[in-house]
Amino acid sequence: MNAAHVESPVRDDDRTTVDGGFAVYVHWPFCQAKCPYCDFNSHVRHKPVDQSRFAAAMAREIETFAAWTGARRPLSVFFGGGTPSLMEPSTVEAVLCAIDTSLGLPSDAEITLEANPTSVEQARFEEYRAAGVNRVSLGVQSLSDAELASLGRLHDAATARAALALAKRIFPHVSADLIYARPKQTTAAWADELSEMLDLAGDHLSLYQLTIEPGTRFFDLAEAGKLIVPEDDAAADLFELTGEMTRAAGFTRYEISNHARPGGEAKHNLVYWRGGTYVGIGPGAHGRIDIAGTRTATSTHRHPETWLAAVEADGHGLAEREGLDADARADEYLLMALRLSEGMDLDAYARRSGAPLPEERVDALVAGGFLARQGRRIIVPDTARLLTNAVVRELAQ
Ligand code: SF4
Repeated sequence: MNAAHVESPVRDDDRTTVDGGFAVYVHWPFCQAKCPYCDFNSHVRHKPVDQSRFAAAMAREIETFAAWTGARRPLSVFFGGGTPSLMEPSTVEAVLCAIDTSLGLPSDAEITLEANPTSVEQARFEEYRAAGVNRVSLGVQSLSDAELASLGRLHDAATARAALALAKRIFPHVSADLIYARPKQTTAAWADELSEMLDLAGDHLSLYQLTIEPGTRFFDLAEAGKLIVPEDDAAADLFELTGEMTRAAGFTRYEISNHARPGGEAKHNLVYWRGGTYVGIGPGAHGRIDIAGTRTATSTHRHPETWLAAVEADGHGLAEREGLDADARADEYLLMALRLSEGMDLDAYARRSGAPLPEERVDALVAGGFLARQGRRIIVPDTARLLTNAVVRELAQ
């Protein structure tokens, strides 16, 4: 990233503690193949993608959003997908330069790129680092060849191990994703796999339970009785085991599915969970921005070429733009913040909602062991973590 950094008289950290912070999400919607469990906005193209045209459209869309939100320096940029490691490093650099020009990118901004751990993508790591990326999030998903094949992944376990080792040499921060509670997975098999991952890991792990989403091939197989995932009790045991093993290895489960060594927490995702503001650019990206004082939910066209044509015609690819009222804002904050081990700030809730959470509802959940109080914060304790959605429903009624 070569563009000059814009200085701002407002310290971004000061604002972050008050309103959750500000970030930019960039969606790269292309993949080499479609995984059978995937419901993300990902598309396979059999001809080369015109990357410079997409980069120019992303730069234009950033400019438009910056005009709406006013210049505010993001504390994080996240390239997600799809498979952003199919972006040429020059495309990544062009998008980062555009963000710097329109918004100003602080020198300590977290800049994450999701990458699949194939050898082709590893060959680009040095260039991504030179382009300004300082954190890579590797979609390892499993360290078993058979499991990777059944998940439809294009890499094997040895390539994933090599990618992790290389990423740790090149990037200051490295995250890896694993999927557990997979069909027929035993507790012992998961313990072995996680143990190996904890030896290989950088400073962050995202450990997700497999969910079967409508519209995916896994959904059709599950409907036909050909794919059986662990029952709730077995999945809960795997969740407990995951927390015990990561804790013993020096990680903190700071969000339901995310674990970090001290200082390795994802600044970007914390903006979402703390109810912050984020610009979402690229096909199918979601955002939460303030336009003329109104918190606004945005989403762009999902189909890549439709999005491209819209940006080239209008300067943005928005498909929907909806102002959120106080109730919607407060409910969203409740839903996101209670996922965090730091919990939710009662005063921040009241600022969004215009009224405090009813004390009697909080007290009842505290008495039942489903919530704990810590000063002006409420927290879902570890023992009730799997019931977080029920706690949110109870509070939001
Ligand atoms: S690589 Fe990721 S985004 Fe692409 S199809 Fe697979 S799960 Fe979906």
